[in-house]
Amino acid sequence: MSYPPADDRLRHLIAQELNPHVDSWKFAFWLATGLMNNSEIREELERIVTAHANNEPCGDRNCKSCWRAHFATPAP
Ligand SMILES: [Zn+2]
Repeated sequence: MSYPPADDRLRHLIAQELNPHVDSWKFAFWLATGLMNNSEIREELERIVTAHANNEPCGDRNCKSCWRAHFATPAP
C-alpha cells in the first residue's frame, strides 16, 4: 500500500506538515482531522479550486500558482 493512502491523502499531508511542530503524531493527526472537518476551510478550498479551474486568480496571497501567473504575465 502506498503512503499517504489515496483515500486519505490530504489529511496525512496536513498531519505531516504539523508533526514537527507538535509533541506527537497523534496530536498532529487530530489537528489535521479538525481541519478536514471544518466546513469553512473546505468551502474555501472549493472556491480556490473553482477559480483556478476557470483560469481566474483565487485572490489568496499564499497561492503560489497565482503568484507565479502574476509574474509570468508581461506588463501592458
Ligand atoms: Zn490561486
